[in-house]
Order: sequence, then structure tokens, then C-alpha cells
Amino acid sequence: MKSALKRAVKDTTKNVRSIHHGSDAHWVGDGFPVHTVFSYQDLGTELTPFLLLDHAGPADFGPTSEERGVGWHPHRGFETVTIAYQGEVDHEDSGGNRGSIRPGDVQWMTAGSGVLHKEIHGRDYARRGGPFEMLQLWVNLPAKSKMTSPRYQELLDRDIPAARLPGDAGSVRVIAGEFEGAKGPARTFTPINLFDLRLHARHRVRLDLREGWTAALFVLKGKVSVNGEAANEGELVVFEREGGEAAIEAASDATVFVMNGKPIDEPIAGYGPFVMNTQEQIRQAFVDYQSGRLGRIPSTTH
Ligand code: MN
Repeated sequence: MKSALKRAVKDTTKNVRSIHHGSDAHWVGDGFPVHTVFSYQDLGTELTPFLLLDHAGPADFGPTSEERGVGWHPHRGFETVTIAYQGEVDHEDSGGNRGSIRPGDVQWMTAGSGVLHKEIHGRDYARRGGPFEMLQLWVNLPAKSKMTSPRYQELLDRDIPAARLPGDAGSVRVIAGEFEGAKGPARTFTPINLFDLRLHARHRVRLDLREGWTAALFVLKGKVSVNGEAANEGELVVFEREGGEAAIEAASDATVFVMNGKPIDEPIAGYGPFVMNTQEQIRQAFVDYQSGRLGRIPSTTH
């Protein structure tokens, strides 16, 4: 807990509000052993515009010629952002788009009015087997953009700038938003910073997490101290909206995913793969899905 004195002295600090340990482990399809780090069902108001974060792996898959992953399913009303750390994911959708993401790549899918897709292990990776680790972040759309046309942004490793920290402290890969002049390639509907932060042991970084914005970070690897509070591997650190500055120091080599966004303070109504503003819109999403208005499975699929 923070003392009043500490607040008064460091009044630009973005204080840590709470630290959460990863919850239930479950399988998504047969390819994604997932811990849900947070969901809008428990932290929706605190973490808006971020709705959910799933951590898949780290896991080790043996070689196979089978298709592993999650089959055709719909989404409406938000965006899914898949960040590959190890392994490979192929996707295919009802609009006829397909692609692969490999370590360092990010797929930013805007479901908008609706899309059907499947997410499976990349064929070459599956044949080879090996380590697998991904994050999938769900980002909300503001009410006025929930029915926007679906789109994909395939953000390749080489297109994501990495700002090197002074003194060989590590690097900040900027997926979205900006860090010290490095601009992320993602186009977003509301202002968002997403950073893939790598810190070397006993080094630190100061981040400006924007006064009034939501901020949280997830520790994928290592042990860090966040404004003096210890956070371990698999833990989520949630900040107050007030203040901007956060000091992150690594006790061991660390990989940290930083989420920072302007809040969308609108009602959240969600069920399964749909996140809208009202229950009536959720009912409509099911009707539209069943009547094929979210798209159809391409006939060319295998
Ligand atoms: Mn999906």
C-alpha cells in the first residue's frame, strides 16, 4: 500500500493499484494451453479499452502432421491482437484472408461487424514441433466503431521498431503508439500504446504511461520491481489512472508486455466471442451469426 506521504512527494507517479496472479488454465481448441490473465468479466471497468488477455504456453509441442488449434468461430465488436513469442500460428478467415505469424510478429484483427476465422499452428512449425508461446489481447472498439468493416493488420517483426535503452538496459519494441520517438505500425481506433519490453537484469526503464490512461503490464519472463512493488513471472500489474510515470527495474532478465490506452468508458455486454454495449446487441450478434451475416466458411477450406 502507498502512504499519503509517498503520494505527495511523487505526485507524477502512476501508482500500482493491484497485482494479480494468472487465473484458470484451460485449452482453447487443441493448440492453445491458455492462462487467462484478465477478462472484462472481472476487470472490465479498470482495464478498458483492454477486454481480455490470454497467455498461451510456454509449452513444448511434439512434431505432428495433424492440424492443431482452434476451428472456425466468429467474433464481433472488438479487435484481437495476437503477439507471437515462440512457435507459429496460421489464420484463415471468412473474407478469404490468410497468413502466418512467427516469433516477433503481431496480427491485429479488427472483427468489427463480424468475421469467422480459425487459428491453427503453422504447418512447418507443427511438423517440426518445439516451444510455443503467444499472447492474445482483446481490444474494445468504441460504440461508434463496433460495426466497422473487418480488417487485418499483419505487423511483421521487421516492421516493429525497437528503441534501444541507454546503458544496454534492453529494448522497447513499439507495436502501437509511441516510445521516445519510435512509432508503432498498428493503426488503432482509440489512442493505445503497446510495448514488448525486454530488460536486462539489474537495469531499469522509466515509462510515461499517460495521465488519465489505463495502464497494466504482464510479466512473461523474469522478476521485476514496478515503482518499488515486486512482480513475478505470470503476474499482472494494474496501475491507477492518475499519474503517468512508472519505473520498472529488472531483478533478472525480463520480458514484459505493456498495455496503455485511453479508457473507453461505455457499457460492456459480452458473451463468448461477441463484445457489444447491450444485451440486445449480443442477441442480434447470435441471430446474425446463425443466419450467416458474420461471414461463411470459405468452400476452399480443407
Ligand atoms: Mn478467434
